[in-house]
Amino acid sequence: MDQYVFSDIERKWQTRWVNDRIFEVERNPEKRKYYVLEMFPYPSGDPHMGHVKNYVIGDVVSRYFSRLGFQVLHPMGFDSFGLPAENAAIQNGTHPSIWTHEKIERMRDVLKQLGISYDWRREIITCEPDYYRFTQWLFLKLYHRGLAYKKKGLVNWCPSCATVLANEQVIEGTCERCGEAVDKKSLEQWYLRITDYAEALLDDMKFLGNWPDRVLTMQKNWIGKSEGAEIDFLLPERREKITVFTTRPDTVYGATFFILAPEHPLVDELVAGTPYTERVAVFRERISRKTEIERTSDTTEKEGIAIGQEILNQVTGERIPIWIADYVLAEYGTGAVMAVPAHDERDYQFAVKYGLPIIPVIQPPDGDWAGQCYSEPGIMINSGPFDGIPSDQGEKRIIALLERKGWGKGAVTYRLRDWLISRQRYWGAPIPIIYCDCFGERAVPEEELPILLPEDVDFLPGGPSPLARSAKFVNTVCPDCGGPARRETDTMDTFVCSSWYFLRYCSPTESDKPFDRQDIDYWMPVDQYIGGVEHAILHLLYSRFLTKVLYDMGMVGFREPFTNLFAQGMVNKDGAKMSKSRRNTVSPREIIQRYGVDTIRTFILFAGPPELDMEWSERGLEGSFRFLNRFWKGILEALSVSEVPGQTTDSLRTEQIERLRHRTVYKVTNDIRDRFHFNTVISSCMEFLNEITAYTRFLGEKGATLEEAGYLRSAVQALLSLFNPIAPHITEELWEKLGKKTLLTLEPWPVYDREKMLEDQVEIIVQINGKVRSKILLSRGTDQNEAMRRALKVEKVNGWLEGKAVAKVVYVPDKLLNLVLR
Ligand SMILES: [Zn+2]
Ligand SMILES: [Zn+2]
Repeated sequence: MDQYVFSDIERKWQTRWVNDRIFEVERNPEKRKYYVLEMFPYPSGDPHMGHVKNYVIGDVVSRYFSRLGFQVLHPMGFDSFGLPAENAAIQNGTHPSIWTHEKIERMRDVLKQLGISYDWRREIITCEPDYYRFTQWLFLKLYHRGLAYKKKGLVNWCPSCATVLANEQVIEGTCERCGEAVDKKSLEQWYLRITDYAEALLDDMKFLGNWPDRVLTMQKNWIGKSEGAEIDFLLPERREKITVFTTRPDTVYGATFFILAPEHPLVDELVAGTPYTERVAVFRERISRKTEIERTSDTTEKEGIAIGQEILNQVTGERIPIWIADYVLAEYGTGAVMAVPAHDERDYQFAVKYGLPIIPVIQPPDGDWAGQCYSEPGIMINSGPFDGIPSDQGEKRIIALLERKGWGKGAVTYRLRDWLISRQRYWGAPIPIIYCDCFGERAVPEEELPILLPEDVDFLPGGPSPLARSAKFVNTVCPDCGGPARRETDTMDTFVCSSWYFLRYCSPTESDKPFDRQDIDYWMPVDQYIGGVEHAILHLLYSRFLTKVLYDMGMVGFREPFTNLFAQGMVNKDGAKMSKSRRNTVSPREIIQRYGVDTIRTFILFAGPPELDMEWSERGLEGSFRFLNRFWKGILEALSVSEVPGQTTDSLRTEQIERLRHRTVYKVTNDIRDRFHFNTVISSCMEFLNEITAYTRFLGEKGATLEEAGYLRSAVQALLSLFNPIAPHITEELWEKLGKKTLLTLEPWPVYDREKMLEDQVEIIVQINGKVRSKILLSRGTDQNEAMRRALKVEKVNGWLEGKAVAKVVYVPDKLLNLVLR
């Protein structure tokens, strides 16, 4: 018998698929389309097992839908601009472009070895000018709509990466890329106005019913919508107001002090010439050393000082003292809060610490205020004319009062900030803006794109921006006045590149526009997007935002880019995430050489439901390898069974194998389609293989009839067909050995017959005088006489009948036999 030489088999079929161009697809309005997309990788190093898991899941889905008859778009590319590649290049002493292209070569090589069904003609490399010219084009579109703007503000600065970071890239006060503590710096930066879309991003979640709940929750929290009111407090002597935002206007009577952020611009004016000037300066100096997390965390002790001033609460007509405190930040809200210690936990702790008054204004519905902070709704007390009103109604009435008196208004705020996209780094798409002496800031005309990233630049980080060191790059001519002008030297965050790449795959070679409308209308939205949950906020939120902008510009006909999202779990080893720093990585290249691609695929998919983290295990890998060898041997043995003349067919055994065939098709189809539970797909295939092997032995001993050999063959055919998306190479080879001239990859998906899935034996309930006394197994469709005969053979039933006569028999075929006794 042939040996399972996986390397020959895998090379053979991969070559065949490429030569026959079976994964290359075109728009075809005659057929229904399906767009499967895995998040594309950063080519910063070699691919790791997390990538492999991601792409293998996508490949199974893609192969399955294409065999269902869909026109399947399944592309791959490289997210190649940005910090990860640039930092790696610098560490290795090479140019980011050289490094990136080398890594792309290696990654592409491994992806091809994995036999993934990509249409490689559609490959995208975001650092190539033919791609980033359209990233720049997109920026200009946003700019002309007022959605891209430059602003000076306090920004996150990573000293080690020497660049600013978006809020989304700061994880608990540290840089997402390098882990360094992030500073605050006041700099002029480019932003995209994502906050204009805060409400749409929330509202359109109704179209995302097939996204994981946890991802939607994370986005919702990140956008952080809160409804409440803006209330104006008055500085009586200055006749100036300070506005606060509160989600609980119903507690306005309980405001016993007022807090400004220490950095609030009014603080200096308020204390000027008073003895508080120095105290404030000392306090500020101490606070400046705390991170935002330390300042706002629920677990750290809050600190503050009074500044000797009072402010008027116009609703109560009372003056309350002004404090500054670390837990109020200038960048959030208005940088001022009304402190209601009876009903806000942080205000409560602060009031207790400094002995400030605590006045309860909301009483719990089921009893008295217990002297602790109570932050739930209840009944209003100590609130003048509002006493006795439920707090939710009170909120509306206070807002009405504020609006009537001109003291404030109902308001909504979002936690979401505008998206900071400029980076003081080399490896990114240059921002297509120039500055000229006469007109100032000007957009580069569209026809001048791309603004090429120069290769001959000292790209090491530091200074304002590496591009600023290149006179050749910086100095240009103004498109409007023809005078000398300077180019913007910041580059765009790589998340801008990845926020529209899924559109480019639809028209990858379009040279005068980013995509063709007909292509987009046919292929988009992405039907199934697959990636890690770590992108739940940044990438997915940005892509949704850009899609909405394009929709509003009339350039695409859909509001949401990804209909279904699947977030796969990680690949761990020794209980921890695989990473270079832990030295617990496994090289896909090496494993492919040792075990073959089909083994890796089977192992990864068999390890558990793919949304969960999995544990890498050499034993598991070997187990999958042994299974594939058993699979190979079992199928070849089955194929060697042929007719022995003069035998009779064993109908019970043929029914059994037929039944299992239909059941397995049913189960595998459902597990792939509904749940992505490939692990149970594989165990169903294992059971089916066992049954095929047993049937092969049985026929070998008995001698097969022509009919039986046919049933065995149908079973083998179905098993190969079902296992094909998981292990495409071995099944393709065995399909050929079955004598097929077609590619299994192109075969229609097998169908099942519900009738044939059913057991031929049914359980019949035997009742005596209406009481259940026994159960018997009968063939489906047994008639009443035969059922009686079989029931009477049961000892227990016979016992009940002793000495009595049967007056009446009620028989419901395949269900029940009731004997009524005289
Ligand atoms: Zn950093
Ligand atoms: Zn000019």
